[in-house]
Amino acid sequence: MLTTLQKQQKREIQEAFKQMLSAKQHYNRLVSECNHIANLTSPDEDTECIICNTYLGWKCPNSPDHVCHYDMVKMDNHEGVFLIDHTFHPLTDLQISEYNDYDEICVFCNNPNERK
Ligand SMILES: [Zn+2]
Ligand SMILES: [Zn+2]
Repeated sequence: MLTTLQKQQKREIQEAFKQMLSAKQHYNRLVSECNHIANLTSPDEDTECIICNTYLGWKCPNSPDHVCHYDMVKMDNHEGVFLIDHTFHPLTDLQISEYNDYDEICVFCNNPNERK
């Protein structure tokens, strides 16, 4: 049997756990709604969002949002990619013709996702 003190401790732990779950939900929603902006001032070759610190991947010399993209999607009959701020960016015919579903090659700079 638990002592009164232990029962109190148990209640507090359960309450803190509930608060943690709800804070996590809140955090996840805020991050998913963030229109990420890549941090371009860091010397690293990969980058995080300057607002929410989400890891965004490799910096890209050609991409309009400065981050590499590997997945092409079709929207309103045009192929493109979703940028980090969630906007749709249509690709050129050349970019579309060079796209290969099987290898993880950036559609903007042609660098692979796997890098040393
Ligand atoms: Zn963000
Ligand atoms: Zn790239």
